[in-house]
Order: sequence, then C-alpha cells, then structure tokens
Amino acid sequence: MRGFCRHVAAGAREGQGRIRGRGAAAGHRRFRFHRRAFRHGGHIPGVPGLGLHVLVRRSAAGAVPAAGAVRRLAGRQVRRTPGPCRGAFSRRLRLVLLLSQGPADRYGRAFHPYDGDTVGGRGARRRGEYRKGPGPDMNDNTKNYDAVIIGAGPGGLSAGLGLARRGWKVLIAEKNPCPGGNCTARDYGGYVFDLAVHQLTGIGGGGMCAEILKEYGIFDKVEFRQVNPFLVVDMPDRSYRLPGDREGLRSELKKDFPEDAADIDRMLDGLATLKKDALISQRLLYGSNRIVDSMVMRTAGLAGLASFPFTFPWGIASRMHVGADAMLGRWIKNPRLRAVMHSSWIYLGLPPRRLSGVMMNVFAAMQHMEHSYYPVGGSHLLAAAFAGAIEERGGEILLDAPVKRIILEGGRAAGVELADGRTFRAGTVISNADARHTYSSLLGPGEVPARFARGLARMKPSMGPFRVCLGLDYDVSRNGLEEHEYMIYPGYDHEETYAAMERGEPAAVSAYSPTRISPELAPPGHSTLILTTLLPWKPERDWRGREEEVAAAMIAAVERKRLPGLSSHIKVKKIMTPGDLNRLTNADGGSMYGWSNEPGQVLTFRMSPKSPVKGLYHAGHWTRPGTGVTTAILSGWMLANRLNDWRGKVLDRIV
Ligand SMILES: Cc1cc2nc3c(=O)[nH]c(=O)nc-3n(C[C@H](O)[C@H](O)[C@H](O)COP(=O)(O)OP(=O)(O)OC[C@H]3O[C@@H](n4cnc5c(N)ncnc54)[C@H](O)[C@@H]3O)c2cc1C
Repeated sequence: MRGFCRHVAAGAREGQGRIRGRGAAAGHRRFRFHRRAFRHGGHIPGVPGLGLHVLVRRSAAGAVPAAGAVRRLAGRQVRRTPGPCRGAFSRRLRLVLLLSQGPADRYGRAFHPYDGDTVGGRGARRRGEYRKGPGPDMNDNTKNYDAVIIGAGPGGLSAGLGLARRGWKVLIAEKNPCPGGNCTARDYGGYVFDLAVHQLTGIGGGGMCAEILKEYGIFDKVEFRQVNPFLVVDMPDRSYRLPGDREGLRSELKKDFPEDAADIDRMLDGLATLKKDALISQRLLYGSNRIVDSMVMRTAGLAGLASFPFTFPWGIASRMHVGADAMLGRWIKNPRLRAVMHSSWIYLGLPPRRLSGVMMNVFAAMQHMEHSYYPVGGSHLLAAAFAGAIEERGGEILLDAPVKRIILEGGRAAGVELADGRTFRAGTVISNADARHTYSSLLGPGEVPARFARGLARMKPSMGPFRVCLGLDYDVSRNGLEEHEYMIYPGYDHEETYAAMERGEPAAVSAYSPTRISPELAPPGHSTLILTTLLPWKPERDWRGREEEVAAAMIAAVERKRLPGLSSHIKVKKIMTPGDLNRLTNADGGSMYGWSNEPGQVLTFRMSPKSPVKGLYHAGHWTRPGTGVTTAILSGWMLANRLNDWRGKVLDRIV
C-alpha cells in the first residue's frame, strides 16, 4: 500500500484520529477519481484505473479511528449491524475497497456458454465488457461471514445486496467466471447475445422491481428501454398485433375480433382488477414495508391499507388453483381470441390449460398494460450494477468458485466448501442454485429430511430453451421484423403445439431482434436475431448431434413466414441447448424457469425461502414467488427483508 492507503492503515493501527500528510491529499484525490469513475459506469475514458485497497482493522482498544474518515471520503455508507455471525471475526472490522477499475468494469464483461471471445470486439469499452479485475483476496479460507450465498444469479445478487446494505458481511460464490446467472451475454465478432433475457416486466408503471432497484440505489445505473411496439402472433391463417399498452391492445383486438368487443372490454377490466389484487396480496407474501405499502396505497387507497388484511382480495386466493385458459374463459368465449391473448405462454413454459391462471394473466396484464423493458447493452449490465453495489457495501463475490458441499454442524448449515477445497463459514447459507442440485449434490441424502426430499422428487421442473442466436449482415427491423417479437405458431391449439415440443419438435418459434432496441449490440447496419423454442432435455437425451437439424428447422420457419432469404445474411450462428444451460448453471434438465408454472407450484405453493435444514434459505426462481429475472430479484429482496425483520424471525419459527 502506498500514499493514502498507508496513512489510513497506519492511523488505524496507532489509534490516530486524523489522516495527515501528502499521502492523505493524494488519497482524497484518488477517492474522488474513483467515485467519478463509478458514476460514469465504472470507467473514465482515457484515464487508467488505479488500484486501491484499504484495510482497516479494529485496534486493540476496540476503536476504529480512521474508518469513519474512509467511509466519508469514499462517499459510501458502510454500516455494521450485528448479523447472525458473532464469532471472533465480528470483533474486527475489515473494510476492503476495491475500486481499481470501478465495479461495473470488473463485472460488466460478457459471458456465454459457447466458445468465443469473452472480451473485446468493437465497442467493447462502451459496452462495459472488461477483463476481470483482481477481485477480493480470497486466499484466507478461515474467514467467517454473516451469510454465504451459492450462486450469483439475479436472486443471489438481490439477496446479497439486500443483506450487504444492512451491514451483513456477505460472500457470494459463483461457479462461472462472471456474475449474473441467466443475466449474462457474450460477444461474437461484434455481435452481442444475451444468454436469456429479452424483456423484463415490473419495471414500468412504478413496478415493484423498479422500486426495489431504486431502494438498492442501482436503478439509474442501467438504462431500461421500453419494448414498443411489442408482439405479433403469427398463426397459419393470419397475424395479430398485440401492443404493450392497454388502449392499443383494446383497439387492435377489436379490429381483429369485432364480434367479441364486449368480451374484450370485460377481459381488460378483469385483468386490471387481477393485477391490482395481485399487488395488494403482495402484502401477505412480503409483509408490510415501504415499497409494498406505497403500492397498496396506490391501488387500494389509505382505507384499504389500514383495513388490511380484511380488504385482502380473497378472490385471488380462491383462484390460485385455476388454470390460465379457464380463468380467461370467464371473460372471453372465443377460443381463438383466448389463444391469441395467451400466445406468450412460451415465456412461462406451459400451455394455457396447464399454466397457473394467476401467473399467466398477471403476466399478460403487466406485458400489455405497463409495457416490458430491456436493459440497454445487455442484461449482464444489470448483474454488473448489482455486483458493483455489493462490493461497494463491503460484500465479496468469488467467481470461478463452484460450491461442492454445504457444511452442516449439528444439523445446521454452517458454511460451504468449494470444489477446490476452500471452506467459508457463515451463520446463514443461501442457495440461489437449482433446488434439486442444492438438495441432491450439495447436501447428502441423510442430511435432507426424508419428507421434504420426497416432495422435491414430486415437483416438476420447467422445460428448457433451445435457442439459435444469429448475427446478420443487414438490419432485420427494417426488412420484415418491425415489431419487437414474433411468435410463429403452427395453429391455435397450444396443447397440440406443446405436445409436439415434448416430442422434440420445434413446433413454435419466437423471433426477436435485440438490436431493434439496443443497436450497439451489432456493427452498424447489422443486427442480431434470436430464435427460441422449448424442448425437453435429459442427460441421456442430449441435443448434441441433432442441434444443427433443429436450428435449421427454426430458421426455415422464420424464413418462410417473415424473412425470405434470411439464411444468406447469417454471419454468426450460435446454438444453445437445454443441455448447455444445465452445464452452465446446474439447472435441472436445463430448466429455464425453475419449477414449472402449474397452479400447484407457483406463488405461495412454490418452495418456501426457508429450508427445512436450519440456517439454509433459498433465493431465485426455484422459490417464491416464481419465474423470471425481476421475480428472482423480488425473491432475494423478500428474503433479505425476512432475515432482518422481527416478523420474518417469527415466520421462521412457524413456516
Ligand atoms: C433462454 C431463456 C430466456 C429467458 N428470458 C427471460 C426474459 O426475457 N425475461 C425474464 O424475466 N426472464 C427470462 N428468463 C428466466 C430468467 O432468466 C430466470 O428466471 C432467472 O434468471 C432466474 O434467476 P435465478 O437467480 O433464480 O437463477 P439463475 O439465473 O439460474 O442463477 C443461478 C446461479 O447459481 C449458480 N450456481 C449453480 N450451482 C452452483 C454451485 N454449485 N456453486 C456456485 N454457483 C452455482 C449458477 O451458475 C448461476 O449463476 C429466461 C430464461 C432462459 C433460460
């Protein structure tokens, strides 16, 4: 350590209350520089980042004289509140500020399961794809934490940030070389492909996820762009436009189904009420807090808030077991119109008759009433914002660090052991990993209560994605794909389509071009096109060997329906099978949404965030409330609240 760092450390050791000398002034300047760098997305063009590591330990007398100065200078609020770990380590304060390249720099780089460049490419700096920085010093494997989190997917990152901002000492161990789980991307010769995400709900209209990101202080670190116009459903006989706003949707549907005009009005009113009821019922799921209460206030008013739970929309509870098609059938008689309205079932993984009605219809209401959004530059930048904020609050993220085992002591989770043998101890262990992986690979058979293990074996995971990512030498959004997304179906019977998918046929294909919203993902004048379908996967039924054939069928379907001559424009083609996803994130069967979204496996019926193994918790799409990036973020936020709130502690004893 030189200059300022040396002075701070010396001051802390000697119990001095002041920072003196030229080194201190240099330190001031350096902190200002790094703070500026962070505000500019982690990088100030043309100015090389400077390494800065400050280590402050509590002196023998128990005072930390320079730590306050460090916090003020850094402009960071690093609070220490007692977490559940009260070992010898908690008597010392270790403040590690790693700002050598700015947090977004270190985590904004792209990653994907296929071969190819993880860094570089045209415009890489602008996109925030930088080489991995030094990361925290993790050689000391005797360290204790308040919480260790397995997996840095959106659920794990959200739980980590929720706890770190309350002063918990958090370590996240991620098996891949970058954080984000499904929120990652990769650059192939100038074309950037997201691993998964193409639209996020809960961001527009004061959505809950937006409020959580604001509470976390990272909402303005990512630019969310509205996905509008939104969706076109291509049926064999004709196409339907489904805009992302309520009045637009009403007029388009009435144009296409004039004889169902009254039903369409009834449906839109019904969806609005359902969405409102779903919001109010969040109070039961998450308890009362600033975000939930202000949303309930907005939808139910002060009287509604004050009289909760008597004003709880009990109707929604009675509809939890109803399938999506049956629920929509209460408002709409025409099965064709229902099939069109539910065309985005692919994004919840089950056809409307088997899919949870509350889940599908709230999703439809959010998509078509308050728009969907895309994080400009790629979803890995959202993960980067989380990772940066976690480190900023003293949390540590360990990459390339697969967890091999959850350590139990006296039947209680007490830490994790990594594949390389290092162990990290903590009072609380949170698994963001696949539920089956957690209970069958990270815990031994005798360590999981038998009844719980049997229940887990009965649960059904969702299907996996088969995805073809294309880099094209022309702009598809000006040559046939003017809307955000096209769903190409073989017919109006979604059950039949799903049955074909279960047989391994890419029966329905979604096609969208991310460069329509975020042109910087491809070279100028070029574009990216993502084709997705659902296919089952098992280790013994891998798609390797058949993948080119399936991809060719998907490309041909889009070529026939929308983009004649598409094949001649392909510069880059990358295929992702459910098996790739399994290898990348340990997702059971390459499942893309955690448990399948049938009525008995969503919302309150999904796995509790609290494990039957003491000290172990879950965050992410395998636990409540369900599927999707914003929902996984919600689950992490909900868990952090629960672990910090007296009501959560009471819940922990009974649920
Ligand atoms: C193709 C596809 C498209 C999708 N499109 C969208 C979309 O447009 N919008 C949307 O909202 N959602 C979408 N989803 C769903 C969304 O991506 C997921 O629901 C969400 O990412 C779940 O987040 P998570 O934190 O629960 O898990 P994940 O994102 O899966 O993260 C889990 C993390 O745990 C890590 N891990 C697992 N095991 C270990 C271990 N032993 N040790 C250390 N780390 C481990 C994994 O590497 C991973 O990083 C899509 C999913 C797919 C696959």
